[in-house]
Amino acid sequence: MTEPLRIGVLAVQGNFREHLSVLRRLGVEASEVRKPDQLDGLDGLIIPGGESTAIGKLVRAYELEPAIRGFEGAIFGTCAGMILLAREAVDGVPDQPFFGLIDIVVRRNAYGRQVRSFETDLELAGEAKPLRAVFIRAPWIESAGPAVEILARYDDRPVLAREGRILVAAFHPELTDDTRVHELFCEVAREAASVRT
Ligand code: GLN
Repeated sequence: MTEPLRIGVLAVQGNFREHLSVLRRLGVEASEVRKPDQLDGLDGLIIPGGESTAIGKLVRAYELEPAIRGFEGAIFGTCAGMILLAREAVDGVPDQPFFGLIDIVVRRNAYGRQVRSFETDLELAGEAKPLRAVFIRAPWIESAGPAVEILARYDDRPVLAREGRILVAAFHPELTDDTRVHELFCEVAREAASVRT
């Protein structure tokens, strides 16, 4: 028997409840993170979608910025979470924090504003069955460094990518019944945990 994974979800704004319920369906010990010490002992952290400028402000207000920068487990950022994990955004708001934990540059609201929210089927590397993906005022990956593995594209733009222990999705895998992206994140978190111990 392997120990259940322990994954926290940053719960300051946005879709954290939906991520918690997917994780629980997968048998993960899932918890809300609002304080720096709630990261202790976690194998992974999810930064959900919502509004990256609002999440960035709250991360600072809750003094979570250094704790997230120093967190050694796996991190999965979806939509706004992907923006926060990026090196920068071509259209970021002044003083918006970027963790720079994955070597990508993103474009916020890349598909236009609210009207440009849509669903589509993505081809996943190595998978026969397409993945239904929900995009909501989504960013795309404008450019990625050589260490970044692109796992899915939409319209030629990368929308799912991984660099080591960091996974990012431009879309919302917590809003569909297909749990494959969360399962992938669990694998990334297990790998990261085995490297640390
Ligand atoms: N457009 C939002 C932002 O810039 C992201 C939207 C989302 O997370 N669904 O933060």
